[in-house]
Amino acid sequence: MSCTAREVTAAVRRGAEVISVHRDELVELDRAIGDGDHGENMDRGFRAVLAQLELADPPTPGAVLKLVATTLISSVGGASGPLFGTAFLRAASTVGDAESLDATAIAASLRAGVDGVVARGKAEPEDKTMIDALLPAVRAAEESAGRGGEPGGTLATAAEAAEVGARSTVPLVARKGRASYLGDRSAGHLDPGARSVALLLAAFADVEGA
Ligand code: ADP
Ligand code: MG
Ligand code: MG
Repeated sequence: MSCTAREVTAAVRRGAEVISVHRDELVELDRAIGDGDHGENMDRGFRAVLAQLELADPPTPGAVLKLVATTLISSVGGASGPLFGTAFLRAASTVGDAESLDATAIAASLRAGVDGVVARGKAEPEDKTMIDALLPAVRAAEESAGRGGEPGGTLATAAEAAEVGARSTVPLVARKGRASYLGDRSAGHLDPGARSVALLLAAFADVEGA
């Protein structure tokens, strides 16, 4: 079993839908420890992605991921646009022009994505950022793929780990991004970017196997 451009496109569309549904929640999370625009940023970016997908029908998984990357980078201001954009761009170049992605390729693309976010944002684990959801998700995906898991199961495992990782940001004091300006007062709140990672991975897992 592996995912073609059609499944990856469906996953991205589902991601856009889930972000749109959770827009206000993401705004509220960012209002608590940031500037309150995270939901707006993500929703604007993924709406732009949907608009681009109406104009183009990318032929490979890598082309879909590249379209997401360039659209997020050009339409989202703030920290999250370039960071998510970089993640999708690195994922795209890792899968290259493969016709379809198996679980190993999915895990490799997630790994490349998280490496890109770290290279760009310089966050470490427990800095209370999207990295705290991404890293455990990548590890879980690699383990699942290593055990011979299918794409659907691998994404589901990654999504669960991202959810746990996102929740783990609550007690942390932010050391990167706007939330770090609050110092100790950032503790006690869920990081909005980590929440977005968990939402997106759950959306992607939802499509695969459908
Ligand atoms: P901004 O903070 O510019 O308003 P957003 O509100 O859209 O941008 O995104 C904030 C999210 O970006 C945070 O919740 C955090 O997860 C993530 N983030 C911020 N800085 C970094 C960084 N250096 N590395 C990784 N993630 C980061
Ligand atoms: Mg913000
Ligand atoms: Mg902002």
